[in-house]
Amino acid sequence: MQYKEFGRTGHLVSRIGFGGMRLESPEDIDGMAEVVLHAFEQGINYFDTAPDYLDFQSELIFGRAIGEIKKQGKPFFISTKTMAADPDAVRRQCEASLERLGIDTIDFYHIWCLVKPEDLPARKKKGVLKIFQQLKEEGLIRHICVSTHLEHGRVAAMLEEGEDLFDSMLIGLNVQNSHLRLEGVRAAAAKNMAVVTMNTLGGGVLTDHSDRFQAVLRPGDRSILDAAIRFNLSIPEVTVALVGFRNKKDIDQVIDTVNRLQTLSQDEIHEISTAMASAYKDMCTQCGYCSDCPEGIPVVRLMESYNYGMLKGMDAARRHMQYHWNSPDIKALLADCTQCRLCEEQCTQHLPILERFEILKQE
Ligand code: SF4
Ligand code: SF4
Repeated sequence: MQYKEFGRTGHLVSRIGFGGMRLESPEDIDGMAEVVLHAFEQGINYFDTAPDYLDFQSELIFGRAIGEIKKQGKPFFISTKTMAADPDAVRRQCEASLERLGIDTIDFYHIWCLVKPEDLPARKKKGVLKIFQQLKEEGLIRHICVSTHLEHGRVAAMLEEGEDLFDSMLIGLNVQNSHLRLEGVRAAAAKNMAVVTMNTLGGGVLTDHSDRFQAVLRPGDRSILDAAIRFNLSIPEVTVALVGFRNKKDIDQVIDTVNRLQTLSQDEIHEISTAMASAYKDMCTQCGYCSDCPEGIPVVRLMESYNYGMLKGMDAARRHMQYHWNSPDIKALLADCTQCRLCEEQCTQHLPILERFEILKQE
C-alpha cells in the first residue's frame, strides 16, 4: 500500500480508502466487519462511512471492526458525515455516529451533501460551522471536512465560505468526469487541504461497462479497475481514492492494482481526460455549458444521470437522481421548464436534452 500525508493534518493515510456504502451483506455485521478488518490488515487505514449508508448498518459494521483494529495498535482514521442543517441536529447526529462506531472521537467529520451553491451559506447561517468548531473543541471530532458534488469553479467559492476551517474535501472524481472536477480539486489543494475522491469507479459504471471505456486502458493494464485507480492516484492533488468494497476479493484486487501502479504523467492525465470527453459523444460530458438555465433546472445533473441510464437502464438514472442528487421527483424538478431550448443550443455535445427529459420523467 502507498501512503500520503493528509493535507496539513500531519497524518499519514493510505492512498486507498475503504468506502463503506457497498458491503455485500449489511445484515451480517460480524461477517462484514471481517471484510473491514481484512482491509486494515492489507494496509488500508482510512475508513469512510455515513449514517445513512446501508441503512445505518455501515457505521455499526465499522464499529464492530474498530474493536478488533484497536487491538493491533496501528493508526487508523474514521470519516463520517452529517447533512443536518441546524446545530442541535448536528450534535445529535455526531453523538449517534460516535455511539454506533464505538469511538470517542471522529477523525474526519464532514459537512455532507453540498449539492447546490447555496447549501453551505444556508447551513452556515444557521450555525453549522460554529457547532462543528465546538465539537472539535470538545474533542468529539478531530478535523472539520466538507463533502460536495459541486461542479467547476463553484468549489472554490464554497471553500471560501468555509473560512479555512476545512482540513479536507471529499469530492466525486473519476476518469470519466475529471474535466469537470479537477478545478475544484486544485482549489482545495491550493488551500493545503487533503482531497479524497469518491465515485472513483464511477459508482461501478466504469467496471460494470468496461467495454465502453477501453480508451482509458494503457499497455500492461489488466482491467478498467487498474486504469481507473491509477488515474485518480496519479493526480498529484488527490490524497486518497475511496473504493466501495463489497467483499475481501474486491480488496485483494485493488491492493494488487496499487502494488503494480505506475503513475501517469500530467500529459497522460490530460490526454486520457480529453479522450474520454470526446469518445462518448452521445453521453453528457458534464462540461457544464448548459448550467445557466433561466428556470434553475439542474440540466447537468439530469444529463449525468441519463448517462447512467444509457449504461444501466433508466431506472438506474432515476435512482441516481434520487440518491446521489437528492432529487427523487424528476417531474416536479422539470415542472418549470419552458422548453426554451437554451440548454440544447448551448450543449457542446448537441444532445437532445428535452427528449431525454421526457424519458427521465416516465415512471
Ligand atoms: S429548455 Fe428547459 S431546461 Fe433547457 S434552458 Fe430552457 S427552461 Fe432550462
Ligand atoms: S452542455 Fe451538454 S454535454 Fe455539457 S453538461 Fe450540458 S448536457 Fe452535458
